[in-house]
Amino acid sequence: MLQSSGPRRRVGLFGGTFDPPHVGHLVTAVNVRHELDLDVVILMVANIPWQKQAVREVEAADDRLAMVQAAVDGVTGLEAGDTEIRSGGPSFTADTLAELQREDPDAEFFTIVGADAANDLLTWERVDEVVDRSQLVVVDRPGSALALPALPGTAEWMRVEVPHLEVSSTDLRSRVVDGRPLEFLIPPGVIDVITQRGLYRGGGG
Ligand code: ATP
Ligand code: MG
Repeated sequence: MLQSSGPRRRVGLFGGTFDPPHVGHLVTAVNVRHELDLDVVILMVANIPWQKQAVREVEAADDRLAMVQAAVDGVTGLEAGDTEIRSGGPSFTADTLAELQREDPDAEFFTIVGADAANDLLTWERVDEVVDRSQLVVVDRPGSALALPALPGTAEWMRVEVPHLEVSSTDLRSRVVDGRPLEFLIPPGVIDVITQRGLYRGGGG
């Protein structure tokens, strides 16, 4: 007889550059975790974000990881992920899912994306593999109906409505450069990391 080891662990994978992480990311992660009854949502820090690298300078991976660790500190069910940094090279979700599955073969995975990332999904490396290994989840603002790209095969998007906060890392980086306030857009612990490490002051981003 097959032995059941109880309910499968439900793991959300929320990848990003997190340059820097902000309340939009956190509100998304805690609400998707709640709505889908996930055990954990991993905020996975991209090592080399291949889609952004050519466009602008990105802060070092270990600085972005330190910011995400500060962001999730004390938040139940959220974790900072360093799988992509440990793997090195460019970060592809298909590979990250394979690695997470190797570490936790019985878990069920949910790949979580915001609306902009959902629109770009078909440009990802090996989307079919991402779809095979996980359920795609898109966060949507309440009341809106996103036009989503069709997924390979018979896969369907799962939508989760999350309060939409008009916050972006792009705006936050220019706030640091201009000396405008970060408070209430970024958790205090993340602001401390930015200050202590002198991030975003090099004029690169
Ligand atoms: P940038 O402005 O540099 O593009 P970003 O704020 O979009 O940064 P990313 O690290 O690129 O942050 O995004 C990681 C994930 O978070 C993506 O899936 C993106 O769609 C989602 N996301 C970004 N901003 C928000 C937000 N305000 N609310 C919900 N999800 C968001
Ligand atoms: Mg973005």
